[in-house]
Amino acid sequence: MKEKLTIALVAHDNRKADMVDWARFNAEYLSRHNLVCTGTTGSLIKKAFDEMGVEASVLCMNSGPMGGDAEIAAMVVRHEVDLAVFLVDDLNPQPHEADIQMLLRQCRLHNVPIACNRISADLMISSPLWTDENYTPAKQNYVHFER
Ligand code: PGA
Repeated sequence: MKEKLTIALVAHDNRKADMVDWARFNAEYLSRHNLVCTGTTGSLIKKAFDEMGVEASVLCMNSGPMGGDAEIAAMVVRHEVDLAVFLVDDLNPQPHEADIQMLLRQCRLHNVPIACNRISADLMISSPLWTDENYTPAKQNYVHFER
């Protein structure tokens, strides 16, 4: 698998504190990869990294409600994203629910690992499979199931 990954980071407003804390905790790891974020999430991560003196490649798309999730979903479809961390606010409705579901669906469909909570994100980024030369992700089967 690739050594330098493109990692998508998205957090809803009530999960942004968690995302910034997670990014700070994993700053050294994240600084070795390319990050692509929805607008506000990305600007908060940049600010946190600046405060820590960490240099990182952080590409900010539009804000989520203005199409940032949709832009990242399009990147997933083009196989430009290797891994996504998406801290979803499961307690409040979002104006861009359709885009959120699209991003989640495209990650599932295109076999892109997506973590929706911090422990999944920690486990995903620390997997030894990323650097295992013998590991190739299995293709997904969408075969019709005859009952
Ligand atoms: P934001 O978007 O990072 O621009 O706030 C995240 C979202 O709400 O999907």
